Amino acid sequence: MEQLKRKIEEEGTVLSEEVLKVDSFLNHQIDPELMLAVGEEFSSLFQGEGVTKIVTIESSGIAPAVMAGLKLGVPVVFARKRQSLTLTDNLLTASVYSFTKKTESTIAISAGHLSEDDNVLVIDDFLANGQAAKGLVSIVEQAGAKVCGIGIVIEKSFQHGRKELDELGIRVESLARIASLKGGKVTFLQEVRS
Ligand code: 5GP
Repeated sequence: MEQLKRKIEEEGTVLSEEVLKVDSFLNHQIDPELMLAVGEEFSSLFQGEGVTKIVTIESSGIAPAVMAGLKLGVPVVFARKRQSLTLTDNLLTASVYSFTKKTESTIAISAGHLSEDDNVLVIDDFLANGQAAKGLVSIVEQAGAKVCGIGIVIEKSFQHGRKELDELGIRVESLARIASLKGGKVTFLQEVRS
């Protein structure tokens, strides 16, 4: 997605060879126009899949997921990372190691928001080693629902998340794929178009 790649080039900050900061449009301040375009892109990629629900994780997955939900006309559920007084009964959970915080945490979705008839599109902001996406897939499967696809805004293709998700046999679509962050520079994967 060219608009997203240009934004990453113009506003992204390479913090290390493994971490990209995009706080001006995705992870802190949010660019609604860009998020709408991201939602439209996910919607056009997955519209033939019969999506009934989108599942994401707080907090940075919510903006792109809501825009995709708006365009696909389906509700959006986000997994909580923190315990909440209102999130008490019948929880589906997964243990996720956070790439950015370097800690293990339990993510949770109330079972009442997923049913075995659901055909779920999982969306997240970044794909690094695939832990967050795999945790979400596990929760959807615990509910007896099906995952029809995974939509990622920014994939760091030099880490092993993409391979792990491909091994699950689930369709993965990433809107920007980064080959390297070496030398303080973002290099995108050269994708061969058929
Ligand atoms: P994974 O679970 O695939 O290892 O990492 C994905 C999660 O870690 C995403 O939900 C995202 O919040 C965070 N993350 C991973 N890599 C980066 C990065 O380079 N920059 C930012 N801002 N977040 C990242």
